[in-house]
Amino acid sequence: MSHEPSDWRQRNKWLWAKTDGRCAYCGTRFASYAEMTDDHVVPRSRGGSHSRTNRLPCCRSCNAVKGPRPVAYLRDALQRRLHGRPAFTAEQMAYLEAAGFTFPAETRFEFYWEKLGYSLDEGANG
Ligand SMILES: [Zn+2]
Repeated sequence: MSHEPSDWRQRNKWLWAKTDGRCAYCGTRFASYAEMTDDHVVPRSRGGSHSRTNRLPCCRSCNAVKGPRPVAYLRDALQRRLHGRPAFTAEQMAYLEAAGFTFPAETRFEFYWEKLGYSLDEGANG
């Protein structure tokens, strides 16, 4: 992208390497650095830090959906988009499970970084 500094790629190699060039949320492989954005898992507006542990590579599509919202919002959105069925919020899932309902594993969309086994800052799950 022409509006980005020429050293952007150099400065963000660590971010790319976190997921080997894939979106940390949906798992889409980036064709180039231009497709990667720097997402704060816990948004800065919600007290998230600017440290590398709170940042993940994110495709433009996921970043546009997530914005300054918690990751749970993006999970619900990806669940609807990719699985084509209504999504329950984490609170609704907990309520229904407590009431005895069980769900197939794929009901809850799994982020790519979860498949990699990352642990993130406190508050990033949900
Ligand atoms: Zn994505």
